[in-house]
Amino acid sequence: MTQMSDSEHTLGALLAAATERLAASSESPRLDAELLLAHVLGQPRSHLFAWPDRPADGDQRVAYARLIERRANGEPVAYLTGLREFWSLPVRITADVLIPRPETELLVEVALEYLPDKPQPSIADLGTGSGVIALALARECPRCRIIATDCSEGALTTARLNAEQLHLTHIEFRLGSWFGPLEAECFDLIISNPPYIAENDPHLAQGDLRFEPKSALVSGRDGMDDLRVLAQNARRHLHAGGWLIVEHGYDQGEAVRKLLDKEGFSSIATRRDLAGVERVTLGRHA
Ligand code: GLN
Repeated sequence: MTQMSDSEHTLGALLAAATERLAASSESPRLDAELLLAHVLGQPRSHLFAWPDRPADGDQRVAYARLIERRANGEPVAYLTGLREFWSLPVRITADVLIPRPETELLVEVALEYLPDKPQPSIADLGTGSGVIALALARECPRCRIIATDCSEGALTTARLNAEQLHLTHIEFRLGSWFGPLEAECFDLIISNPPYIAENDPHLAQGDLRFEPKSALVSGRDGMDDLRVLAQNARRHLHAGGWLIVEHGYDQGEAVRKLLDKEGFSSIATRRDLAGVERVTLGRHA
């Protein structure tokens, strides 16, 4: 039996082999290999660049090989590491929640722009998932009163844990569907990144989407069922002058503007994300 030389166990060699293994299945094989190795070592990614000649021990190599195989099988990196960054906050991710997307940061930016100038603005984040939108707003606006809802117990557990770990303890989490847990309360802003994919969309059978909760992704035949529920009920829960701000699919901007118009919103506008895609639409409750 041939003994593997130490040089094959260095961080640099492990990364090179894993990158090759992932080349066919991932669009970012090198980055994935780095994130997973850093996770196994319990070190930041910079450690890999500082110490490429250091060896990994046997347990670490076994754990790494397992993760690389799962990644080669399509599992998203965020579910394998249990971690993702959003708005520069490290956020815990479980299979109960959607993996936060960078484009959702636009929703946070728009919300911050439309916060009213008063001592304690109130915000509802509906379908909070891992909690990222509420967490980012809580970080930026400590004086805000924030209520975050989700109909998934597993998602709320993850969101609550994130709030605790980030010491953003002034968010109130409530279990229930959309406006259900809000009772008769009114807010200055209602924010949501609802599911907005059509149930027969072929993308659901591709990439990360295969592993994410269907309830966080899919919303009826045209992907707009939940956007309709939000548009139809938001005004009852908004103060006069308050805003509904929603994320939607790349081709849903016009349909969402029409929907908000039909429901009596004013000052309706759509904002584009960094890729130039219509991504966030908002409307004012007169
Ligand atoms: N609000 C969460 C996010 O933006 C979850 C959204 C969802 O599950 N549709 O990531």
